[in-house]
Amino acid sequence: MRVTWTAEEPARDGAGGSDGGGGERVWRLTFLLDPEDATTGACTDGQRMELRTNSCHVRLPPAGPAAPYTGRGEPYVHPDLLAVAAWTMAAPWTRRRVTFDRAISPELAEAISDGWGIEAGPVGERPRTGSRLAISYSGGADSVAVAAILPDAPLVHFRRISHPRVPNRWTHYRSDVLARLAARTGRELTVVRSDLEFLLASPRPGYPEHHAVAAGALLLADELDLGGIAMGYELGSRWLGGDRYLCRYTPDNPMWAPEGRWGRVFAAAGLPVVLPVGGVSEAVTMRVALESELRDLVRWCLRGSGDGPCGTCGKCLYKELIQAAVERRPLATTVTAKSAVARKWQESPPYGGQEMIEYGCARVPGIESTPFARAAELLGATEESTRWLDHCYPPAIEEIPEPWRERVAAYMEGVGLMTPDESARVENWGIG
Ligand SMILES: [Zn+2]
Repeated sequence: MRVTWTAEEPARDGAGGSDGGGGERVWRLTFLLDPEDATTGACTDGQRMELRTNSCHVRLPPAGPAAPYTGRGEPYVHPDLLAVAAWTMAAPWTRRRVTFDRAISPELAEAISDGWGIEAGPVGERPRTGSRLAISYSGGADSVAVAAILPDAPLVHFRRISHPRVPNRWTHYRSDVLARLAARTGRELTVVRSDLEFLLASPRPGYPEHHAVAAGALLLADELDLGGIAMGYELGSRWLGGDRYLCRYTPDNPMWAPEGRWGRVFAAAGLPVVLPVGGVSEAVTMRVALESELRDLVRWCLRGSGDGPCGTCGKCLYKELIQAAVERRPLATTVTAKSAVARKWQESPPYGGQEMIEYGCARVPGIESTPFARAAELLGATEESTRWLDHCYPPAIEEIPEPWRERVAAYMEGVGLMTPDESARVENWGIG
């Protein structure tokens, strides 16, 4: 795999279309496959994927006064940051070695070698460091909870834009709505626009690796003096196997454990991944988000118009179950058990995100007349059996890098820490 980043001339006013683009700094990524590489692969969570094209753009907002430049007048970004951003898009296709266009640090080369068995180079740069923590902010309940816990941290929002050579059949994805909501937070915000999701031909446009959402934060890390990137992955994603590994305790999660392959790569680039809500369930993040001043800006659905979420997709149904449980009210949905999006809840467990299905089924009044009736019957969960999901799993706090650990710990003490028995529920998830 051969990777090249090119800084293009700043876009002139209007060049980015009607909703911005004037003065944007454009980084173009191109990668060329070596003979042993492949256009099919799997991302770290095992999802099979197919590559559609080999180039994309990351568009940063106009340069501020602190933006560093090289002697040649090119915007300066530490080569490790460029390399990690590229690796979030190139890793699934790379088989033996990756050759970057700028020398990287030996620490990063070692992290790639240890994590993937891939030889990375050339080597010959000193590692970078930074000091501030930014939040990768999507606007969903989990990232709003992170923003509420860290009220001073700047937000970086990834916004999907069309790819010049790939037809966009996903126009119902309202990335414009999410970007507008992010702007209304009143927080220090950088919106990064990119077509990188259109690198994938299948299963659909999306991040080649989950970490590609941080491509913009990586390219901005020197300018914003970033020393960490906070993401909204919660207990289920970090410790319980998430959506794809069903019901499995995953202390060694390759995506989100600090010693996992991605944790090490980001740390080597001086931008460790920080999971402030890694110890709490989606019930807690929902509660924190709904109690925060950002409550009206929470939006987990990419399909809804400016007026609100669509209310009919699978994600809306799942999040409505959690919200109704947190608010102790009946489910408000038009989705029926016969709907396609509710089909999996008519089947037997295990389910992805099962802990939250148990939590919701145990708490939503009248669950027996909702699309979750069958799941509720099969799971037999009670408030008592799901109480651990209201508390924080202490090892998640230990994973927070030292500069930010104390603040998160103080917040989580307010939420309540899990007892040893409750922690055992995490550690025996999928076994008992
Ligand atoms: Zn929806």
